Amino acid sequence: MDFDTLFDAQLNELREAGNYRYFADLEREAGNFPHAVHRGGEMARDVTVWCSNDYLGQGQNPVVLEAMQAALARYGAGAGGTRNISGTTHAHIELERELADWHGKEAALLFSSGYVSNWATLSTLGARLPGSVILSDAMNHASMIEGVRHSRAEKVIWQHNDPEDLDRHLSALDPARPRIVAFESVYSMDGDIAPIAEICEVAERHGAMTYLDEVHAVGLYGPRGGGVAEERGLMDRVTVIEGTLGKAVGVMGGYIAASASLVDFIRSFASGFIFTTALPPVLAAGATASIRYLKHSNEERLSQRAQVAYLRRKLDLAGIPHMANESHIVPVMIGDAEKCRRLSDWLLDHHGIYVQPINYPTVPRGTERLRFTPSPYHTHAHIDALVDALSELWSQCALSRVSVAA
Ligand code: PMP
Repeated sequence: MDFDTLFDAQLNELREAGNYRYFADLEREAGNFPHAVHRGGEMARDVTVWCSNDYLGQGQNPVVLEAMQAALARYGAGAGGTRNISGTTHAHIELERELADWHGKEAALLFSSGYVSNWATLSTLGARLPGSVILSDAMNHASMIEGVRHSRAEKVIWQHNDPEDLDRHLSALDPARPRIVAFESVYSMDGDIAPIAEICEVAERHGAMTYLDEVHAVGLYGPRGGGVAEERGLMDRVTVIEGTLGKAVGVMGGYIAASASLVDFIRSFASGFIFTTALPPVLAAGATASIRYLKHSNEERLSQRAQVAYLRRKLDLAGIPHMANESHIVPVMIGDAEKCRRLSDWLLDHHGIYVQPINYPTVPRGTERLRFTPSPYHTHAHIDALVDALSELWSQCALSRVSVAA
């Protein structure tokens, strides 16, 4: 059988639908964020990165880099084993303590990535709690969906950010069954924020546990960067807080923070935790340094918020439609996969602006978009250049503008 023909047929379908993904070959340069060198064919040129999830530039913070260099010199490269078999170093234990404190929980547990933490935790809870039901927000991330699927527990999808719909579903379930309400705080593609207090209130009334993905919020919200639950004084109302070390923390890895018993349960039963090599200690040390920094420095959070507000104001003045939300994510709606890709290519080739098109299946068809994530290091000049370039494109492509009252 010619397997490559089978693969190519499906890849061609993606290409025809405008959904084939290309990587941009970028060289991030420490100390020069949000600039990077883009290598396209023979050419190498400076670009401004507008779609990084290193939301606060922590991946280049000297405090983080120094901690990683010191850890590399002290511990060497890899962890050398799974967490149970020689892979646990003091750097891992220190980071787990730091994470538990960040979220006001008794304990925390590290995973290779945020994806793995969602997948491993939800699949283990659903599979190991007899008769359990997982109630999942309709817009939950793929890693949660995969975890729910793998658990083989009964699944209920409730309407996005709708506590009343959640209430209706919970009312129909036997209260003797363990019920797990899984949702996110900041949704990555629309940038909308969940009504966490209302969702917790509904879950508490029904005796269900809550599982909150704060991947796009940790580091960014709350007085110590503990996430939206911290900002809203709700950390003790949420049963499990899940996060990543790969976005605002600037390194890599994922985790959960919860009660000591729940963490011990996942540590003891989750195959996605047990049967894989531990994170390199150098990453753990970098994440610890980054979180300690973020707990005490508000400067980056405030400056990022100011840049987000400035970008939104400039887009409004230019009549460029963007999705309103309360977060740091600025989605500019295009509504067509091919057009979205062309706009992204044009920005890169003609303006040195790098923003990846966001197409199906990441977002529903017809809602294709460019998703901008201003950081504290994007200046007014960067933002002015971006909005001028978008405005030029809007005229060239005869895209519709919106008028916003001044
Ligand atoms: N949850 C959400 C909501 C995400 O958007 C992502 C990744 N984009 C993840 C989890 C996975 O996190 P990580 O990148 O650390 O694997």
